[in-house]
Order: sequence, then C-alpha cells, then structure tokens
Amino acid sequence: MSEKSYNDLMREVWETDRCSGCGACIAVCPADALIFTAEENSHPHNRSYCKEATDGVPCGACYEVCPRVKMIQGRGLLGDYRSIISATAGIEIPHRQSGGAVTAILADALDTGMIDAVVTVSDDRFTLKPKSVVITSSGELIAHAGSRYAWWVPLLAALKTAVLDKKCRKIAVIGLPCVTEAVAEMKASGNDLILPYARSIRLVIGLFCTETFDYNHLVQGIFQQKYQLKPHQIRKLDMKKGLLITKTDGDLLTIPLKELNEAVRPGCRICTDLTARSADISAGSIGSDSGYTTLIIRSGTGETFVQSAIASGALLIEGDVDEKAIESLAAKKAARGIPKK
Ligand SMILES: Cc1cc2nc3c(=O)[nH]c(=O)nc-3n(C[C@H](O)[C@H](O)[C@H](O)COP(=O)(O)OP(=O)(O)OC[C@H]3O[C@@H](n4cnc5c(N)ncnc54)[C@H](O)[C@@H]3O)c2cc1C
Ligand code: SF4
Ligand code: SF4
Repeated sequence: MSEKSYNDLMREVWETDRCSGCGACIAVCPADALIFTAEENSHPHNRSYCKEATDGVPCGACYEVCPRVKMIQGRGLLGDYRSIISATAGIEIPHRQSGGAVTAILADALDTGMIDAVVTVSDDRFTLKPKSVVITSSGELIAHAGSRYAWWVPLLAALKTAVLDKKCRKIAVIGLPCVTEAVAEMKASGNDLILPYARSIRLVIGLFCTETFDYNHLVQGIFQQKYQLKPHQIRKLDMKKGLLITKTDGDLLTIPLKELNEAVRPGCRICTDLTARSADISAGSIGSDSGYTTLIIRSGTGETFVQSAIASGALLIEGDVDEKAIESLAAKKAARGIPKK
C-alpha cells in the first residue's frame, strides 16, 4: 500500500520548484483532483480532494509517476542508442521545424495502423497559446508540425483523454525529455491505477530540449510589451543561439538568450537531460544540416517505426551527423545543478 499522496508531491516537488509541468500526475489521478490554473502554472494544484489523503484509500499514483521525485541522472551524455542518423521528410510538411522527420515517422505509423493516436502539444497559431492534444489522423498531424517553446500545458494530461475517453490503445507520445522520463516511470510502475496508461503507450518520441518558457512571460511580456510583436505576426520560432523569430512578413528577429532568462520555467533550471534518454527515438536539429532532423534511435521499437517510414518513402536518410556538437550541448545541460531538497 502506498502512503504517498499529492501532499508529498507538493512538499518535495511543487514547493521546491522542481516541477517540469509534464502533466503525468494530472493524467493518472483517478479523482481528477489535480489541475493547472491559468494564474499559477509552474506546478499543478489540488482541487481539495485526494483518495489517499481525504479518504485513506490507497492510491499514490501521482507520486509514483513524477519524474522529479527521483531526479533521474546518469546513463551518459547521450544515453543508450542503436544508431544516430540524419533524416528529412519525403512528404510535404509545410510547418515542419527541422527536417519534418518526427511528423513523417508518425504520419506513416498512423496511416499503416501501427498507432491509433499521437499525444502531443500544439498551439493556436493566432495566439501561440499551447494546448495538449490527441491526434488520430496523419493529415491533422501534418497540420500541427513545428516546435512549441512557450509551454505551460501539462502534456500528459491529454493521455487521460486518449486512454479513457477515446479508448486508444496504440498511442505514440511526443514529449520533451521530462515527459519521456515520466512515461518511463509509468512503464516501470506496478500500480494498477497506472497500468492502463503504461500499456497503451506503444512509442515515445523525445525532442531535444534546453528549456521552455512561460507563455504569459514570453508572449505577453517579452514579445508584445518589449518588442511590440503580436503572436499572429510570428510565423516560426527557433532556438539558434537565441530565439530566432521569422515574422509573417518574412523579417527575422533574434532575441538574445539573456533577455529570455526571466521567462524560463523554474523546473527547467534544474533539468540535465538534453536528448530525451528515456525515449524510443530522440529528435533534434543540432548535429544535422538545416532542413534535416537528427534522430537517435534507441530501441527496437524505435527502429521498427523508422524502417517502416523509410520503406513507405515518408522518411529519407541523408547526410552525416556531427555527434560532437550534440555531446557538447548535452554536456552544458548536464552541468546544471540539482538543488538539495
Ligand atoms: C521546447 C523545445 C526546445 C527544443 N530545443 C532544442 C535544442 O536546444 N536543440 C535541438 O537540436 N533541438 C531542440 N528542439 C527540437 C527541435 O525544435 C525539433 O522539434 C526537432 O528537431 C524535430 O524536428 P522535426 O522537423 O522532425 O519535427 P516536426 O516534424 O516539426 O514535428 C514536431 C512534433 O513535435 C510536437 N511538439 C512541438 N512542440 C512540442 C512540445 N513542446 N512538446 C511536445 N510535443 C511538441 C508537434 O506537435 C509535432 O508533432 C526543441 C524542441 C522544443 C519543443
Ligand atoms: S513533474 Fe510532472 S508529475 Fe511531477 S509534479 Fe510536475 S507535472 Fe506532476
Ligand atoms: S528543460 Fe525541457 S525537458 Fe527539462 S524540464 Fe524543461 S521542458 Fe522539461
């Protein structure tokens, strides 16, 4: 019987600024008692009820899936992997971030029935407001391509919709490293309340990540107030030694990293994993030429999905990968300090 409840999560993770905002606790809470609020979104909140704390019914689900209780470390800079390749989409993906490889692999998987849903983050292209979504068709997935840096949505909260409401059982999750760590916690858990989620996730694609930014701070504060830039005037955001903004009129603007520092989410400041070492496939731009995605294939499952996309022509493998460049950025991130509890 678990004696842990959201109270332990609150004390050990929320109140110590460790929360990554992954949303795993929100997804698995059987009482739907954990939520993010618009006012304070650096960590979840409890709606005042808890099976364990209120009624003494054994639960502990939220605590068990949280990747920030243990602060997973080690496993080398890039983690275990089978191969590292450079790839680009063989299909048209207008909004792709790098080579469109992530969309290409998953579009092929949806079309061939290897998965029945993708849980990921999209946004409202007019406001740039992020949202967790469940996508079930390749056309919809292609429309949602691109990276979201302004983030305060609990991504894995959409897993509850996918598993309980839509009854999906062959789910691919796209997530930042913290999200992939939470999925690894789910898969390692023997808790009956968590098993339906763990068993329904077939593939995990992790995106390389240095940090994410609070939406209100970045979009309403820095973009609108400091640069008089409205979100609908932005076509694309990209992290390139600063935040490179491509405007809808074609003009470019780079905001230096030091100006963005105040908008970095608290939980990112202690995060040490660049390349999503817990994923089946990790994807990033660093290490590959412009227009290509670097793919780190880590598991047999990941290999199967990549091979299927190559066979259908959705994915093209071309060019070399600069592994030293990836290791160098990974080393910088790994050097971030982990505060004592
Ligand atoms: C916050 C953030 C920081 C990043 N930092 C780096 C970095 O420092 N170095 C680097 O090399 N690469 C970084 N990346 C990865 C890079 O931006 C691309 O996502 C990656 O190269 C894959 O490109 P693609 O063209 O294959 O993806 P696409 O084909 O464009 O597909 C991207 C998919 O990811 C989903 N997605 C977008 N944002 C999120 C999100 N926040 N959470 C979960 N799913 C999401 C989209 O819905 C889409 O399905 C970062 C990505 C993000 C979101
Ligand atoms: S890191 Fe994830 S699981 Fe842990 S408290 Fe934050 S949102 Fe919940
Ligand atoms: S830096 Fe990226 S992976 Fe780490 S907590 Fe922040 S969003 Fe998650």
